[in-house]
Amino acid sequence: MRIARLLTTATLSLTAAATFVRAQAPAPSAAVRRYITSDAPVTAITHVRVIDGTGAAPREDQTVVITRGRISAMGPSNSTSAPEDAKIIDGTGKSVMPGLVMLHEHLFYPSGQGSIWHEEGGSALRLYLGAGVTTMRTGGSMHPIADLNLKKYIEAGKIPGPKVDVTGPYINGAGMDAPQMPELTTADEGRALVREWADKGATSFKAYMFVSREVLGAAIVEAHTRGLKVTGHLCSVTFREAAALGIDNLEHGLTASTDFAPGKKADTCPLGDGPTAANEALGVEGDSITSLIAELVKRKVAITSTLAVFETLTPGRPPITEATLAAMAPHTREYVMTRRNAVDQMPPASARAKMFAMEMQFERAFVRAGGLLVAGTDPTAYGAAIAGYGDWRQLELLVEAGFSPLEAISIATKNGATYLGRLNQVGTLATGKVADLLLVNGDPAANISDIAKLETVFKDGVAFDSAKLLASAKGLIGM
Ligand SMILES: [Zn+2]
Repeated sequence: MRIARLLTTATLSLTAAATFVRAQAPAPSAAVRRYITSDAPVTAITHVRVIDGTGAAPREDQTVVITRGRISAMGPSNSTSAPEDAKIIDGTGKSVMPGLVMLHEHLFYPSGQGSIWHEEGGSALRLYLGAGVTTMRTGGSMHPIADLNLKKYIEAGKIPGPKVDVTGPYINGAGMDAPQMPELTTADEGRALVREWADKGATSFKAYMFVSREVLGAAIVEAHTRGLKVTGHLCSVTFREAAALGIDNLEHGLTASTDFAPGKKADTCPLGDGPTAANEALGVEGDSITSLIAELVKRKVAITSTLAVFETLTPGRPPITEATLAAMAPHTREYVMTRRNAVDQMPPASARAKMFAMEMQFERAFVRAGGLLVAGTDPTAYGAAIAGYGDWRQLELLVEAGFSPLEAISIATKNGATYLGRLNQVGTLATGKVADLLLVNGDPAANISDIAKLETVFKDGVAFDSAKLLASAKGLIGM
């Protein structure tokens, strides 16, 4: 009787605590609930392989306990018991790993109309979450109001999606003919853009190819004053100049560097193959690029690997996966295949192919030198790399570049969280951390492509059905 009462009291207090925590997060709407397989307050995944994201060797036969959105226990199954009230998931033969933290994502997509981009929105968000991206930074925004509102809807439980770090409008200069990007020419304009969009809720900024040193420098100072970070896909400003101005992150790696472009004029983007040919002549292992890498590492500038989008511009690569093509609207699929076939007509030793190989070599050298390499899909160019499936491809390409599967997983989890300053919450698996984790019916530490065997995505401890989320976007990309 006494034991029964004690148990009841314990259960009641657990339930009360669960109610209290749930009360903080709004109840998910029907549009979100349809993808949720479990929101039990306590879940135990038993006999599972743990890949913790730190790069440590996987641990077999573990039990991971999730209590009200956090990892409350993790250890060998024979010494880690599942709480009595836990929902049990048998993880035999499966793996858990941290949710992906991907830093060059977009909610827009090429429309095929010159250089205009439309907002993809909900379908892209479901692909991201379905592919296990639990945290994403947009690497630039064409529709920042839409991105900010979509983020709010996710947080309000209205639509499914990852945690989103939204970048403001592109910080670009004049003369590029990119009609959706602001054309900033003075330091005041750079500061004003950062102020306005930080006030509206942007938590990151991205500079673009035609920005001047003056505008970029002013924007960086203003963002840093507010504790926010700036990244850039640069061209007019060199990596070395941007690092000296205090930039936090450079997108795309060596491929976007104009540091060694012959006849480079200050604040001017040298278009064409000049910069690539110069990099190629110097060689990644040569003194010039080695010294540039050392400078970036010294100034703590992160590099974002975006091999998945570069692959779509490189001849002789494996075909686009069936799942990726199936996610596209029919007219998009047709357009993408036409463009892809044109790329494949290029000679195998073209500048593009050399650039792709050199970029992989550069990213390895940057990590060897102690640099923070992060990863993203960059679902742009002509649209062949898309949200979610592109993130999986990015992981595979990091392994092709020479990283071990465990290193690739760390780059796409721990490193992203480190850059965002959220490693104390997400990015690796440890007791006390937020339960953003993936249950995979395979072993991505042995074979990185097993990431596609993702079954369940836990976000704040709530279990989402990966296949259902991915299927929901079928035929919608590029609609
Ligand atoms: Zn991008």
